[in-house]
Parts: sequence; C-alpha cells; structure tokens
Amino acid sequence: MAKVPLRENLFTERIDGNLMGYKCKSCHHMLPPLTITCQYCFSNDLEPIPLGKRGKLFAFTTNFLNSAHFQAPFSTGYVEFPEGFKLFSVLEKIEGKPFEIGMEMEMLIQKLWDKGEDEVIGYKFRPV
Ligand SMILES: [Zn+2]
Repeated sequence: MAKVPLRENLFTERIDGNLMGYKCKSCHHMLPPLTITCQYCFSNDLEPIPLGKRGKLFAFTTNFLNSAHFQAPFSTGYVEFPEGFKLFSVLEKIEGKPFEIGMEMEMLIQKLWDKGEDEVIGYKFRPV
C-alpha cells in the first residue's frame, strides 16, 4: 500500500510534513497551497514556503448527508492561517471541546481514505 498525496504539490518534500504555501515575489502576499497565480497581482513568480500547522476556526458547519468519503454527520469549515488566508477542511471533533469561531485549531496530516491499493494522504483540523 503506497501513500499518495491528496493533490500533487500539496505538501513539502515529505508527504507527512507540512503543507506548502507560497509567497508572491512581486507583491509579497502569502498564498495558500496549490496556488499557481497570485490573487492580488496576477504574478506567476511564487516562492514555495512550508506552512505551520496552527490556525483559528473561521466558520464551520455539520453535514448531515454522506459525502463520497465521509459518513454523516461530519463537520467541515474554514481555518484561518496567521498568513491571512483560509483553508477549507474536514474538522475532527474532540469530546468536551465544541467548535467555536475563533478557537485555536491544529492540523493533522493523515490518511483520508483508500484509493484502490493506495492510501490518500491529506489534512484535517481539530481543536487544540
Ligand atoms: Zn502578488
């Protein structure tokens, strides 16, 4: 069973390492993973920067229908990074720590689902 990333170029060189963000060399804004073109100045001259694993919960919801890979009920939301952008993610509950806007969240790099013989590796967030 091989580990494959959810998307090519999502992670730094190690699949269990950090997500790869970008810094625009033209206008110096930080940009989220998988960015090809700067959303502020449209430059394609981007420098890869490994991201940290902490952010704050910006918004969340509970899904009551199954998705292709997750059994309902499951939570999803946006986590805001210190760099200023937000990432959409599945959220993992911790008993006794209900989701609250603004709470500190930490990223887990882990298997999300199986794809044939492979394990698809992605990220989730849970309360700190
Ligand atoms: Zn830019």
